[in-house]
Amino acid sequence: YTGKESEEVMSSKIRNIIVSDVQSVPILIKKDTSIYEAIVKMFLEDVGTLYAIDEDNGLAGVISRKDLLRGTMGGNDIEKTPVSVIMTRKPSITICYPNDLLIYAANQLIEKQIDSLPVVENHDGVERVIGRITKTNIARVFVNLME
Ligand code: ADP
Repeated sequence: YTGKESEEVMSSKIRNIIVSDVQSVPILIKKDTSIYEAIVKMFLEDVGTLYAIDEDNGLAGVISRKDLLRGTMGGNDIEKTPVSVIMTRKPSITICYPNDLLIYAANQLIEKQIDSLPVVENHDGVERVIGRITKTNIARVFVNLME
């Protein structure tokens, strides 16, 4: 390949990657979980974002590291206060679908200045979280293409 041709091969490869090709496993907690339990879960699972689900297992909220930090401030009893008090909730959640292009998801992360997107599937009107797209997923794709 000439330089220009290999650039074209590379960019067409990137354009063909979809979310389900690279998504990772989402870590879910019930929205009535305490802030304390959520912090423990975040450490044990070694993730930066947790997703809260409601009674019908649908997506209810996003909990980031900074949300939890904020939750520990201002005198909350973190063993009693549920994450629903501090999470980002619907309809403010940016989501993506398994068949979305990865480049679309990457753009959303940059535009919204967030670290991850929940990957959801609709089941009878309920948004089930089936994956997670993070900046790390995208960096890994980048490295794999270079190798
Ligand atoms: P951190 O707050 O730890 O730096 P983020 O940058 O991902 O992590 O989160 C910034 C804020 O955006 C947090 O309040 C978080 O709840 C919210 N957030 C994170 N991901 C999403 C998302 N997919 N949709 C909407 N809000 C989100």
